[in-house]
Amino acid sequence: MPSYVDPSKCDGCKGGDKTACMYICPNDLMVLEKTEMRAYNQEPDACWECYSCVKICPQGAIFVRGYDDFVPMGGQVHPMRSADSIMWTVKFRNGNIKRFKFPVRTTAEGAANAYVGQMGGSLDDECLLLEANLPTPK
Ligand code: SF4
Ligand code: SF4
Repeated sequence: MPSYVDPSKCDGCKGGDKTACMYICPNDLMVLEKTEMRAYNQEPDACWECYSCVKICPQGAIFVRGYDDFVPMGGQVHPMRSADSIMWTVKFRNGNIKRFKFPVRTTAEGAANAYVGQMGGSLDDECLLLEANLPTPK
């Protein structure tokens, strides 16, 4: 269920060379149509449905067609990010709307290190990270 752009909301990121959705897509799927200055997903079949473009779009112009069990026909799920939280708006097919707000957990750039933790771990060790210091079975 790929992402799609609502052209009535997209402003082409006000004419930048590389739009926010182009910048963030891990699969380089978003492109800007320069005549109309509207972005679109050039290869929906290849979309990872990662929601990155949906979350970063400053205009809230990108949506994902959700799977039927997750978002029944006519429903919609849409995130809106702020600096410290993310608000998910869930629109039900009967028109009801619910909103859920969660704090955003951030890790300073360069600060994440999977090998520094309570369990230790080593790149040279055959064990998985959490297996490293398990007690030996008797
Ligand atoms: Fe349009 Fe949003 Fe993409 Fe910017 S990030 S080009 S506003 S769809
Ligand atoms: Fe790219 Fe992810 Fe957006 Fe799909 S949902 S177009 S993979 S950023």
